[in-house]
Amino acid sequence: MQQIPIMILPEGSVRQQGKTAQQNNIDVAKQMAEMVKTTLGPKGMDKMLVDVHGDVAITNDGATILKELNVDNPMAKMMVEVARTQDQEVGDGTTSAVVIAGELLVQAEGMLKNKIHPTIIIKGYQEAARECMHKLDLMSVEFESGDEVLRDIAETSMTGKGSEEHKEQLAGLVVEALNKVSENGQFEGSDVKIESYTGGSISDSRIIQGVVLDRDISHPNMPRFMTKPKILLLDVGLEVKSMEMDAKIQISDPSQMQKFLDAESQMIMTQINQIISSGANVVISTHGIDETAQHFLAKQGIIGIRRAKREDLEYLSKATGGKIVTDLKIVGQTDTGSAELVEERMSGEKKMIFVEGCVNAQAVTLLIRGGTDHLLEEVKRAVNDAIGTVGSVIKTKRIVGGAGSVEMRLSKHIRKHSTSMSGKIQIAINAFADALESIPRCLAENAGLDVIEIIAQINASKKEWAGVDIENNCIMDAFEEGVVEPTQVKIQAISSATEVANMILRVDDVISTAGGGRKE
Ligand code: ADP
Ligand code: MG
Repeated sequence: MQQIPIMILPEGSVRQQGKTAQQNNIDVAKQMAEMVKTTLGPKGMDKMLVDVHGDVAITNDGATILKELNVDNPMAKMMVEVARTQDQEVGDGTTSAVVIAGELLVQAEGMLKNKIHPTIIIKGYQEAARECMHKLDLMSVEFESGDEVLRDIAETSMTGKGSEEHKEQLAGLVVEALNKVSENGQFEGSDVKIESYTGGSISDSRIIQGVVLDRDISHPNMPRFMTKPKILLLDVGLEVKSMEMDAKIQISDPSQMQKFLDAESQMIMTQINQIISSGANVVISTHGIDETAQHFLAKQGIIGIRRAKREDLEYLSKATGGKIVTDLKIVGQTDTGSAELVEERMSGEKKMIFVEGCVNAQAVTLLIRGGTDHLLEEVKRAVNDAIGTVGSVIKTKRIVGGAGSVEMRLSKHIRKHSTSMSGKIQIAINAFADALESIPRCLAENAGLDVIEIIAQINASKKEWAGVDIENNCIMDAFEEGVVEPTQVKIQAISSATEVANMILRVDDVISTAGGGRKE
C-alpha cells in the first residue's frame, strides 16, 4: 500500500532543521557582531550608513549601526534587539554587548563541533553569567560623591566618538545638567533635554535652565516675548483640515464660496475663543496653526508656536505643569502651564524659543552646537550615552574600571570558578571566559596594538584594574587613569549577551511560513 504523506505545514513553507538551522543562525549573529566590532573603543572606526533616500549618517554607535541596517533576518533582528535594550536600559555599552554575544556564539560553534550538546553549553553560560553578576557586585567601587568621577564616567563613554576633542567640556556640561535635574533625587536621564543646531563650534554648547525649542513664533504680528506666560500645550491643530473629515464641495457661485470661507473662519474663531477662555497667551501645538488662526491669535496678542515635536510637548508639560490638550472643546483655566518667560531669540543664525523659569525648576536643556549636521548627530549620540552612564552612577552609585580591565578580571574569576565544576560544563564556562576577553582584545586590536602581548601583560600585572593603555601601547590601571564605567553597563551587557546567545542556541528548527502557499 502506498503511504500518503501528511502535510502539516502550509504549502511553500521553508524549513531548516538541526545542525543546518543552528549553523545558519550562529553565522548570522556572528556577522552582525563582526560588523560592529571595529567600532569598539577609543580607536574604533566609524561606519557610514546610507539609507534608501541617500541620506548619510556617520557613526560609531553600535545601537545606531544595527538599527539603521534594517535587517529582516529574524536572528539578525535578535542581535539588534540586544543593542536596543542595552541602549534603553543604560544608554551605553551597546557595541560591547553585541561583541560579547557574537563571541559566545563563536565559542559555542567550536563546542558544538566537538559534540557538546547545546543544553550543556547553555547551562555553562548561565552559570558563568550568574557568577559574573556575583563578582561584579563584590568588586564594584562605591561612588560617594564628586563631580570629577562623574566627569570621568562621561568622558569614558564619549571617547572615540565625533566629540573627542571637546569631550572634556561636554562631560562638564553633562555632569552639570544631571546634577541640576537630580537635585531632589528623583530623575530620569530624559529629564535633560538635548537640543542642537548647526553653526558655530561644539565649544559654544551650553546649558539653559529651562526648555529650548527648535521652532519660531509663527506670525510676524505676534509678540516676540511674554513674561509670566500662561502656556497652552495642544496636541491638536488650529486649522480647518484637522476636523477629521474629508469632504469634497462643489461651489457654483461666488456667494457660496464666501459663505464657505465664513463658516471656516467661524470654526477657527470658536477654537480661538476656547483658547482665550482658558486664559492662555502662549499656544504651542504639535500640529499646524493655519493662516487664519495665526491672524486671530496675533490680534489677541497671543503667541502661537506650531509643529512642536511630540516629545518636546511632553517635556514642556512636565516643566510647566501644563496639561497636554487634545480637544479644545473641553479646555479650561487649569490646563495651562506657567513659567517666567517665553521668548524667541536668535541662536547663531537660527531662531529658537526659550521657555525659562519653569515651575519645575529642574527642567534643563543642553544646547549643543556643531559645524555640520553629521557631526552634530554623532555628538548628540555621544552626549546621550554620557547622560545614560552618569545618570546610572548617580542612581546606582557603583562603578568599575574600563579599558577591558573589568572583563579581564571577570574572565580570570570564572576560569577559576570553572575548576569547581565537573564535566563538560567546565568547558562551557571557560568558553565564556574567553568570550569576555574579546573586549580587551578588540580594544587593543582596534588601536593597532600587539594583542597577544597586551593580554599577557594584563594577566601578569599586579595592578587591580589592569587594562589596555591605548595611547602608549602598554597596560595601565584603568581606575587611576580615570577610565571608569558604571557597573550597570557591564551587568546589562553581560546578561543580555548571554540571553541572546542562549536563545539562539536553543533553536534547532526554523520554519518559515512567510510567503508560503496558505490561501485564505
Ligand atoms: P560601547 O558601545 O560598548 O560603549 P565604545 O566604542 O563606546 O563601545 O567602547 C567602549 C569601550 O572602550 C569600553 O570597554 C571602555 O572601557 C573603553 N574605553 C573608553 N575609553 C577608554 C580609554 N581612554 N582607554 C581605554 N579604553 C577605553
Ligand atoms: Mg560607549
